Amino acid sequence: MSERAVSGVRAEEDAAEASLRPQTLADFTGQRSSRENLAVFIQAARARGEALDHVLLHGPPGLGKTTLAQIVARELGVGFRATSGPVIQRAGDLAAILTNLQPRDVLFIDEIHRLQPAIEEILYPAMEDFQLDLIIGEGPAARSVRIDLAPFTLVGATTRAGLLATPLRDRFGIPLRLVFYTPEELELIVARGAGKLGFALTAEGAREIARRSRGTPRVAGRLLRRVRDFAHVAGDAPVDRDIADAALRRLEVDAAGLDAMDRRYLRRMAEHHGGGPVGVETLAAALAEARDTLEDVIEPYLIQEGLILRTSRGRVLAERGWKHLGIVPPVGVQAQMDLLGEDE
Ligand code: ADP
Repeated sequence: MSERAVSGVRAEEDAAEASLRPQTLADFTGQRSSRENLAVFIQAARARGEALDHVLLHGPPGLGKTTLAQIVARELGVGFRATSGPVIQRAGDLAAILTNLQPRDVLFIDEIHRLQPAIEEILYPAMEDFQLDLIIGEGPAARSVRIDLAPFTLVGATTRAGLLATPLRDRFGIPLRLVFYTPEELELIVARGAGKLGFALTAEGAREIARRSRGTPRVAGRLLRRVRDFAHVAGDAPVDRDIADAALRRLEVDAAGLDAMDRRYLRRMAEHHGGGPVGVETLAAALAEARDTLEDVIEPYLIQEGLILRTSRGRVLAERGWKHLGIVPPVGVQAQMDLLGEDE
């Protein structure tokens, strides 16, 4: 997956991302409703001198969850500590992190849906009462100790809120859903990014990259850097629409911003399943991808763009999906598509 130019998932090279990260809420483009809500809650928490309520950020990878968490800490004027669900293996790991927090600090847990259940149990009283219940020792000598923690703000990030156990989800006072960015928002992000990277990009060039970034700032940043490389090799003329287009084609990003993986998915549905309905497990096996990858990374954008539908009977290739592939749906498929509709 890390090979995909348009994958929203973080890859090694994205260390370069740090330089493109917005630093303040005002600098953060898009996600208007989340941004406005956060601004109010942050201001209120600051005025009261209290820790901000726990925040749950959910949405596909690359939409700015980590960035927002950092901004929250900066705007609150408190410390920021980051970890992730799969990294926390033992109760002691979490205890060490929690007991080291200063009052009102932000603790960011990425992929919080991947916390082990036993670790989640420790998190509940920590989130609710800022208390840590630890079992010390083993067997008959084991005893439970209670440690008071500094009030803190947990910012959890997950691709889908539905992946979280209900008791955990319920402990977040501020759940925020991040959505795909509009081409206009991405255009602004791309134009600013070019400025930060110090190369000349025309408005049409920025628009072309934005339009083909799968609604995702991380993808926009990555395409921007690749386009810059192509442009650099071709001489140092400002990158216009044609240069951007040529570079994106070389990266196999098509006019709709879909990459080879997206097209494999769509083609599989068309050529092997008559457009569906087909179960996600079947597709995952056929494409040799994890089911989670399909559901969290590939499908959300295809659904949002109306290329596929998620129905109770499985995935269905929508009319736009057939069109995108340039394949005429078999007779009867059109009628079936009309019948199924979208029911999720
Ligand atoms: P997530 O945690 O949701 O996977 P990140 O917060 O790591 O996503 O964001 C990925 C990259 O996209 C960041 O490096 C940042 O440069 C860029 N980015 C995210 N949101 C924005 C935004 N609103 N404006 C500009 N750049 C953004």
